Amino acid sequence: MQVTSPDDRWAWEEIDLGAVRRNTHAFKQIIGSRVQLMCAVKADAYGHGAVACTKAMHSAGATQFAVATVAEGVELRQAGIEWPILMLNQCPVESIDTLLENDIMPSIYEVEFALAYGERAAALNKVGKYHLAVDTGMTRIGVTPQDAVEFRQTIDFHRGLECAGTFTHFATADAPGDWDFELQANRFAETVQALRDARLETGLVHCDNTPGTVLHPKQHFDMCRAGIGLYGLHPADTTRGRIQLEPVMSVRARVIRTTYPQVGAGVGYGATWRVPARGMQVATVPVGYADGLARDLSNRMEVLVNGRRMQQVGRICMDQFMFAVPVNTARTYQPVSPVGVGDYVTIIGRDGDDEITADDMAAARNTINYEVTCDFGLRLEKIYV
Ligand SMILES: *Cc1c(COP(=O)(O)O)cnc(C)c1O
Repeated sequence: MQVTSPDDRWAWEEIDLGAVRRNTHAFKQIIGSRVQLMCAVKADAYGHGAVACTKAMHSAGATQFAVATVAEGVELRQAGIEWPILMLNQCPVESIDTLLENDIMPSIYEVEFALAYGERAAALNKVGKYHLAVDTGMTRIGVTPQDAVEFRQTIDFHRGLECAGTFTHFATADAPGDWDFELQANRFAETVQALRDARLETGLVHCDNTPGTVLHPKQHFDMCRAGIGLYGLHPADTTRGRIQLEPVMSVRARVIRTTYPQVGAGVGYGATWRVPARGMQVATVPVGYADGLARDLSNRMEVLVNGRRMQQVGRICMDQFMFAVPVNTARTYQPVSPVGVGDYVTIIGRDGDDEITADDMAAARNTINYEVTCDFGLRLEKIYV
């Protein structure tokens, strides 16, 4: 392992910005030069670090960025990022000033919010740009297709407002031939047409997320909104083989202590694992559930150490976990290959020929890779390589 560990804690996320650029480029290749790429960098870029990822994506051809909260948008602005930022949500009216001061576009679907936003923008001699969210069947946010034209006609009188985009979000873009997807796609196309027929400016029309971008090129419109794929992970098996992606995040740590406990000694809270009769070396790693390593994986995950798989043992603690190193009982009762303080431990990523992926961990946790990387973003220091 080539990376130097942080000085203050032997646990970190390794973020490969070259991989971010290559993944971004792969999306640009798919969508072509006439379609813009908006990158979802919400949740601190799915745990990968929003500021650094945004810059890397922009350098590879992305032109717009999407966040989920006001604070996420402000963080990008404070880091000097000047490209368009869309918040994929409305927020409480109380933070409208912050949006306008930082030039963060909200997604709008309520008249009350729209008018408050336009009012404040006009008072500040600004134009409040926004994107209209349309709920075509995800049942999350947005105006319904039936209400879209009337909604726009209700708010459009306001000189403080400018519609910079119209979008919807697909619930089933990863399932080819899916009926719900077709319904959503048709409703969206009809809504866009109805807005145009009513001579309402739609701004940029967009709907495809990662699976949509890869599997549904007909829905690219003016812009695609990719997220997970930029981080090198597939949203579903259906996109594998359709785009070449490289995982961006590795999670690594170093051993902070080793010991040869007595046979029968308990390891961790509740002593859920005990040293078996053949003896074991036990090593401690400074990563815990507060770092995003789900406690639910206790006693049923492995780590890579010096190119070998080792069994995690005992309950995962808030800030540490332990793993066991087999010993060779037939001979010396010493570990086959002992682990030492400072040895590198790979929790997600590649070590030699072996690899543990976010997908492996997601499967073990009964969740999706998105949640795995978001969780590791919680506290671990990020080292950009
Ligand atoms: C998160 C999000 C995306 C990106 O989704 P991926 O599946 O990560 O590509 C796109 N659009 C909206 C509205 C989102 O919330």
